Order: sequence, then C-alpha cells, then structure tokens
Amino acid sequence: MADSKVGCMVIGSGPGGYVAGIRLGQLAMDAVVVERDKPGGVCLNVGCIPSKALIHVAEQVEWIRNHAKGQGVNIEGLSIDGAAMQKWKTGITSKLTGGVTHLLRGNKVDYLAGTATFIGPNEVEVMTAEGPVRVHPETVIVSTGCHAIQVPGFEFTHDRVLNFRQALDLAEVPDDLVVVGGGVIGLELGTVYARLGSNVTVVEMMDCLLPGMDPDLVRPVARALKKRGVAVHLGAKAEGFDEPEGAGGQALVKVTTAKGALEIPADKVLVAVGFRPNSEGLGLDAAGVTIDSRGYIPVDDQCRTNVGTIYAVGDVTGPPFLAHRASRMGEVAAEVIAGHNVSMDDVRAMPAAVFTAPEIATVGLQEPEAKAEGRQVSVGRFPFLANGRALTLGDAQGMVKVVVDKESHKLLGVGIVGPGASELIAECALALEMDAYAEDIGFTVHAHPTLSEAVLEAAKSALGEAIHALN
Ligand SMILES: Cc1cc2nc3c(=O)[nH]c(=O)nc-3n(C[C@H](O)[C@H](O)[C@H](O)COP(=O)(O)OP(=O)(O)OC[C@H]3O[C@@H](n4cnc5c(N)ncnc54)[C@H](O)[C@@H]3O)c2cc1C
Repeated sequence: MADSKVGCMVIGSGPGGYVAGIRLGQLAMDAVVVERDKPGGVCLNVGCIPSKALIHVAEQVEWIRNHAKGQGVNIEGLSIDGAAMQKWKTGITSKLTGGVTHLLRGNKVDYLAGTATFIGPNEVEVMTAEGPVRVHPETVIVSTGCHAIQVPGFEFTHDRVLNFRQALDLAEVPDDLVVVGGGVIGLELGTVYARLGSNVTVVEMMDCLLPGMDPDLVRPVARALKKRGVAVHLGAKAEGFDEPEGAGGQALVKVTTAKGALEIPADKVLVAVGFRPNSEGLGLDAAGVTIDSRGYIPVDDQCRTNVGTIYAVGDVTGPPFLAHRASRMGEVAAEVIAGHNVSMDDVRAMPAAVFTAPEIATVGLQEPEAKAEGRQVSVGRFPFLANGRALTLGDAQGMVKVVVDKESHKLLGVGIVGPGASELIAECALALEMDAYAEDIGFTVHAHPTLSEAVLEAAKSALGEAIHALN
C-alpha cells in the first residue's frame, strides 16, 4: 500500500470540488482531487447540464407541436428519437467532464479516481481500482454532495421508479408519468416529459408548488402546467403503487388527499422529494468532523468545519443546492487555505434559477421575505406582455418584480418569471453586488428590443416611472 503526502486533498469533483482544485492550482498549492465516479459531480453528469439539454429539446418539440404553425412554419411528421436525444445529451456531458480533468491537469493538480475515507484528520484512505492508497493531506476540502431521498413504497431499484439520474436517461417517453414532489427537480423534469408528450401528474405534499418561492412567481408556472394538461395534486401523499397483474400494464400509484384516495396510472414514477448529504461512510467521525442532525457538515463563513484543517463546500454543507454556490464556496475554501482573507459573507447576491417553463429566477430579498421582516418596500412590476422582444419570441408569460427600500430606493431583490429569466438575473445580481439603487438600473440604457428592458421597466416602475406600463 503506497503512502503519500499532499498539501490539500479535495474529496469530490463536482462544481464545489473541481473549482476548489483549479483555484488551489492557480494559487500554486500542491493539491489532489479524489473522485469515486466520473469527474464533474452531479452537476455535469446527472444534474444541471443533462437536465438543461433535455429541457432544450423538449422546448423545441413543444414549439413545433403547438406554435410553429401559428408562426407560419409547417412541419410534418414530427417524431422523437429517444436514443439520438440521449446521445446528444451524453456528448455534451462528456465534453464538459473532459474539460474538468483537462483544467485540473493544466493547473498542475492531480486527479485520483477512487473512494476517499478519513482515517484521521490528516489521513485519508483512497480505494482505487489498483487497491488502497494512504494519503496524508495537510488540509482537506470535503465536497461530496448529496443523493436523492428515497420514499417508502418507491424503491429506486424498482424499474418503474426513477430518481433524477434515471429520469435523465430515459430513451423512451413514458405515456403516463407520475412525479412525486412539486419542487424544482420534479417540475423541471416533469415539464420535460409533459412537453415531449407524456401525461404527467404531480403529487405534492405541501399546499403549493415550489414551496418557499414567492407565490407571484410560481403562479405563471402553475398556469402553464395546467395549460399543458399536467394534473397537480397538492396536499397529497403518494403511498406506494400496485403493479398490474401480468406483464406490460401500468402501475396504479396510490395517493391520499384531503378529498380522499386516488389511484393514478403510471408507466414510470419519478421521485423528487429532496436530497440527503453524502456524509455517511466518509469516516468523518475518525477525523473529528461534526455533522448536524440531518447529516450536513456545518461550516463557518470561510467554509471551515469544526476541525481547523478540514473544510467543506457545496451541497454537503446543506441548502441551497446550487452549483454556483458550491463553486464559490470551493474558491473561498481554496483561497483561505492559501492564506487569503476571504469569506462567503463577502457575497451579497446568490442568484437561483428554476428551469421550468416559464423559467423563474431570483436574487436577493423577495417581497414576502421583505414583508415578513417588516421592511418598508416599494415593488416595481413589469409584465413580459408589454415587452416587444418577448412578443417576438412568442413567449410573453410572466413578469419582472423589483423590490427596493421604500425610502432610499436601494435595490433589495429581484424576482423574474418568464422568458430568459435565468439569463436576466445576472444583471440584477451585479446590481445587488454593486449596491445599486432603482435609479441606477433605470438610468442604464438597455438595448432594444430585448427582454432586459423588462428589468429596466420594473426598476422604473418601483419609482412610479415605467414608460411602457401604467404606474
Ligand atoms: C436534476 C438536477 C438538476 C439540477 N440543476 C441545477 C441547476 O440548473 N442549477 C444549479 O445551480 N444547480 C442545479 N442542481 C444542483 C447541483 O447539481 C448541485 O448543487 C451541485 O452539483 C453541487 O455540487 P457539489 O460539488 O457540492 O456536489 P456534487 O456535484 O454532488 O459532487 C460531489 C462529488 O463527490 C463525489 N464523492 C462523494 N463521496 C465521495 C468519496 N467518499 N470519495 C470520492 N468522491 C466522492 C461524488 O461522486 C460526486 O461526484 C441540479 C441538481 C439535479 C439533481
């Protein structure tokens, strides 16, 4: 068994781990990234990227089916080649995961394929294909991510039951899909299959979709789901399913609601009810690292755990589960290890995007939170229906909502639901980072005709000065 020393070991190569690795390399630190699966983590392999590839295809299919003719484009004989769609998706993920190892190598960071387990705070065993390797790192960054929660009665080993990984790999579009969980992942993937032609039913235990989000932003998404024929059962619990007698039939998913019991036919059931941290079996006990009651690793604003030489970043530290948050934490941990005085508290704006149709994106304080905090705010709204570019895209659902301090007009937050929300939020994040006021956005000339004019108008609307809407 080989024994080696290293300055910093990063465990996990998702957007938290690989970014930490690259940054360590840039700072001339001696580092190794250990990964038990493919490089790139959930994000590149089975999360952000493949889901967005399928969302793109599904959007095109829906456009061809429902909108092309009305815009003067006749397309006959549409069909979906699931195998080709999957091949395209895998091509993208392969390019990006190849990029991760290339960047690590280019920054002189070692990559070790294997499963890491702490033996002590400064000793890690990595089980590689060739056998165990003992490494003595001076510091460690834990970035091991999360896995999907399993619901009793819906074991992921059953070929009818899908977690997010399996739902991204379907080569055939199921006729009937039941989605357990009306959160981000359930609605993103449920919308993919609804657009591709599945009858989709969403079963959500809470009394709303996308719990925790501003209801004003969720409403257009709920309306669009209904328009697509997606059935939504709120305050409903999926209890399990009965298999048909004989092969080839559909299962019946048993659901209890306040109004009584339901049986919903399903070819496949996607379970998307949340995540658990990958902190078990990591030997954190041996290293002396504390975890909380849910298994997450608590960290301070410099991503340091209770053990001074061990850091943790990304999903394993708890929500929000966002790739870009994991990456920023990875950068902060690497820089702190290199002796820089940086902190996650330096980050003022952490945007979030939900790739439903329409998309939702938020940054900063939303109206319900601001009101709950008892703040005096002005809210500017601008509907995409009044935005020329949205109309030319044939997609004018939703609005931009800008929240500012009532007296000073300082920007507090922005919520967007509608076309391009995930891109438009970047300007708002920059404005928040720069301590902008509604007047700053209102004064900035935005190119015409663009969706970004809706951000401009919403900021002006907070001042009672929107041009293309009545204030
Ligand atoms: C379907 C889906 C869509 C998503 N879409 C988005 C999106 O659009 N935008 C967004 O911001 N976020 C999105 N997310 C969330 C995003 O993927 C995560 O927030 C992000 O991947 C977290 O990064 P991480 O580095 O913390 O962990 P991960 O990406 O989970 O990486 C952890 C890595 O650690 C490895 N590992 C674990 N234990 C060990 C061990 N003992 N030894 C060695 N390696 C180990 C794992 O194999 C894994 O590769 C999505 C998630 C899913 C599931």
